[in-house]
Amino acid sequence: MKRVLVVGGGIGGVEAAIRLRKKGFYVKLISNRDYLYIYPLSIWIPTREAKFGDVTIPLDKIAKGHKFQYEVSPVKSISSQEVVLENMKRYEKGRDFDYLVVALGQDKMKPKGVEYTYSICGSPEETLKYGMLLERLVDTKKSGKLAFGFGGNPKAKEAVRGGPVFEEIFNVDTMLRRKKIRDRFELTFFAPMEKPGARLGEKAFKMLDYMFQKRGIKKVVGKKIKEFTPNGVIFQDGTQIESDLTLFTPAGTGLSLLKESDFPLNEAGFIVINKYNQVEGLDHVYALGDCVALEGPEWKAKQGHLAEVMADNIAHNIALKEGIAKGKPKSYLEHLNIMCLMDTGDGGAFAYRDNEKAILIPLPIIGHWMKKAWGVYYKLYKTGKIPKLV
Ligand SMILES: Cc1cc2nc3c(=O)[nH]c(=O)nc-3n(C[C@H](O)[C@H](O)[C@H](O)COP(=O)(O)OP(=O)(O)OC[C@H]3O[C@@H](n4cnc5c(N)ncnc54)[C@H](O)[C@@H]3O)c2cc1C
Repeated sequence: MKRVLVVGGGIGGVEAAIRLRKKGFYVKLISNRDYLYIYPLSIWIPTREAKFGDVTIPLDKIAKGHKFQYEVSPVKSISSQEVVLENMKRYEKGRDFDYLVVALGQDKMKPKGVEYTYSICGSPEETLKYGMLLERLVDTKKSGKLAFGFGGNPKAKEAVRGGPVFEEIFNVDTMLRRKKIRDRFELTFFAPMEKPGARLGEKAFKMLDYMFQKRGIKKVVGKKIKEFTPNGVIFQDGTQIESDLTLFTPAGTGLSLLKESDFPLNEAGFIVINKYNQVEGLDHVYALGDCVALEGPEWKAKQGHLAEVMADNIAHNIALKEGIAKGKPKSYLEHLNIMCLMDTGDGGAFAYRDNEKAILIPLPIIGHWMKKAWGVYYKLYKTGKIPKLV
């Protein structure tokens, strides 16, 4: 039985481990966390609609449900031939693994003063801290100015993460309305692009605009950010947003750990793969999810559901190579789309974009419960209690 070492226990890595086991491979997963962090559900931590335990699944439960091995330790260095962990354990090609699957996610860009902001797209600890500070403002001070924004990466437009920021601002608005203190807070959205959200299509962009107006959320867009301070955001044209608490999601960039590897990287530091997720020039190494350089249309985006498609493709493509699967190799380019259920705390909207169409379906009230239902399904599937539905 061929052995596959999967490095990174996030959305893509865990799905790769599950899919590879289903093909009959021996699988070992390495992660620096002993749990899977479900980013799409984590938007409810700051508004106290979910606790940390509600948005995580212990790796132990997933590994038992799908019968793979795992080890919890940060990776210290990685190459096509060897993975070294902080606990000094070494995994060598040939001796310990035949195939290597890299699913380590991405780093965030670091604009000036970013330490005065909080991201909900980085470490779980940072989201918890943001939630604590928001609670202090909302429940103790009961008034304040809140800013919410995201940044871009000119070298990798697909690494911009705007969706969760829209979700968070609408969820905070809903929470403040429910507490009947919305009028004591000023909410401002900011982003350096002229049309943030437009990659989902013109209809989605217009709907976001309408929602900002309807909810009384100020909007500052198309202005380059100079720096963040403890009191807010300063733009390059000298104007500023005053803020008591700033939520900011910088765009993604390649992991610094990969710079020392022998993997080919693009100019933004993401791993160069072919359409079958095989790392260019390295026959036994595959990569997926946020750590890879994406090919494809202008509107493409790094998403969890794409990471899961890639995981399935990798399992199939390795099985094909080993003669235990039939058919053609699977390419991620054929499945490139944006799909998201955007939650507002009191409803939501389903957005879909591919080369042919851009669809937006408003889902008042039910959208919120659909996202909750997805969370229940996701946990049952990941722990091996039910099969995958889609
Ligand atoms: C708030 C939020 C909401 C989102 N909502 C959606 C959504 O609704 N739909 C959607 O499709 N996508 C969504 N996304 C995007 C989605 O979460 C990512 O695209 C997805 O997580 C990428 O999966 P990944 O496995 O590549 O990376 P990750 O999930 O980030 O996993 C990377 C893993 O590698 C581990 N790791 C990193 N460095 C090391 C190291 N040195 N040693 C060992 N382990 C390491 C990390 O701990 C982590 O477990 C959302 C993202 C965020 C932040």
